[in-house]
Amino acid sequence: MPDFACLNGQIIRIEDAFVSIEDRGYQFGDAVYEFIESFNYQIFCLDEHLKRLETSMELIDFPSVSIPELKDQIIKLFQVSEYARAGCYLQISRGVEPRAHSYTNRVPPQITMTIKDLSRLDTDVNTKGIRIRTCEDYRWGMCHVKTVQLLPAALEQHRARKAGLADTVFISKEGHVLEGTCTNIFMIKGQTLITHPLDNHVLPGITREVIINRICKKEKIAVEERPYQIHEFYHCDEAFLCSTVMKIQPIIQADGEKIGHGVPGPLTKKIQAFYDQLIYRS
Ligand code: PLP
Repeated sequence: MPDFACLNGQIIRIEDAFVSIEDRGYQFGDAVYEFIESFNYQIFCLDEHLKRLETSMELIDFPSVSIPELKDQIIKLFQVSEYARAGCYLQISRGVEPRAHSYTNRVPPQITMTIKDLSRLDTDVNTKGIRIRTCEDYRWGMCHVKTVQLLPAALEQHRARKAGLADTVFISKEGHVLEGTCTNIFMIKGQTLITHPLDNHVLPGITREVIINRICKKEKIAVEERPYQIHEFYHCDEAFLCSTVMKIQPIIQADGEKIGHGVPGPLTKKIQAFYDQLIYRS
């Protein structure tokens, strides 16, 4: 089965999909995106991804896009691919027009999607844990918008990987633990999950939301959404990163400091198991 793309509503082979050099996503990073996965042919949290996409577009003054039409196109792309376990990368740019910083919003947004088979990438739940590093946040002031302007994230994930680590976590100028390059982060103290509140410094992750509103609420696990300092983090009992792509990754070391007992903690393992059940039952 070839990998497919969807270019402004038309499904074509990925090798045949091109966008103009004057696309504002290419010229200015003037585009938003989502990454959506399916498990056993079921698309996970599609409405949640579409809601966040719509909010991202509103926050950066995009012309409106029909969300019901977009939803149909996404579902069709998953169906056409015939992959049981797939990942759809969706990007919407402000469109194609002669290069100028200011925009007209009078050209149609460019909607591009690709779909890939993820079955080969799937591994078991991470039982070993990961090591991370931190760095001061130098991204822009609207990190709650899911734009393709990902250079700091790309540079810092590369630095982490080069050092043999899984990810870099951004720390605010005030010393607050914010999020990873493409993940949200939780620490655990006692039996309580603690994560930075939703504001302009972090992306409202779908996995974060699923953990808080579908897992912790149901299982009566306490959650606090509050800023916390890196020094508090170093002394937490457990911690994990989470995202659509990485699922739940127990953190066992940060900046060379052992986290908890240096192995994945019991509550993190529980959350991993609940999450795994959810994605395969969706
Ligand atoms: N934070 C950032 C900066 C991200 O880029 C991502 C995902 O790409 C996340 C958090 C996790 O979001 P989600 O759980 O929706 O994948």
